[in-house]
Amino acid sequence: MGKYVRIESDDGTHWGILHEENIAEISGNPVFGVEPTGRNFLPSNIKFLAPVEPSKIVCVGLNYREHVKESQSATKEPDEPVLFLKPPSALIGPGGKIIYPDMAQRVDYEAELGVVIGKECRNIAPVEADDYIFGLTCVNDVTARDLQKKDVQWTRGKGFDTFCPVGPWIVDDAQYDDLLVESYLNGELKQSSRTSMMIFPMPVLISFISRVMTLLPGDLISTGTPAGISPMKIGDRIEIKVEGIGSLVNDIA
Ligand code: MG
Repeated sequence: MGKYVRIESDDGTHWGILHEENIAEISGNPVFGVEPTGRNFLPSNIKFLAPVEPSKIVCVGLNYREHVKESQSATKEPDEPVLFLKPPSALIGPGGKIIYPDMAQRVDYEAELGVVIGKECRNIAPVEADDYIFGLTCVNDVTARDLQKKDVQWTRGKGFDTFCPVGPWIVDDAQYDDLLVESYLNGELKQSSRTSMMIFPMPVLISFISRVMTLLPGDLISTGTPAGISPMKIGDRIEIKVEGIGSLVNDIA
């Protein structure tokens, strides 16, 4: 068990395991195996990066009842999971800046539980899903709401550079069934729900996605946001908190 981090030091990027006093380097992405190198870093001397290097980021829309009600993208609950992709180029880590695009008039936060796939996964049943999970993390599915509504699909509204803050680490020993998911905008609580409120629970999501596309080790799935979305402005600070994982904080610039 552990907290897996990806970091930048003055000599490059590294993977590691976060301990109380230091970060113990491992040889590479932990989804492929955890091999300590013997080198250690001090958390004060490094920058935390997004703790994922996915081939794709698969997102689930409209997966909490109360969010479906507040959303104008649907009038009723979906009868199958609604999927879309975010490009890996949108990733930023904890402390990274979310850049407000010139094209957008409204940019929202969306607090979500992220799951990192541990091994190649295709056409699996829901009961098998746990075998394919490496760990959990926090995701902010940043969304240009006006552009999402304007376009037929959501690629632009969801895909800008910096629109996928992830972190601060991957936890590999948390249960996903009933975790508190929250967001705080400038310190004020905005979203608060539990993963037990998902319309399609984690095993169903992983199974469903695996029947569409092969999931590779390291791929990231973001499981949808609860109610309470609202816009952010330049200068704001947004925090995504998931129980048992940690807190992901980013500023808007
Ligand atoms: Mg979302």
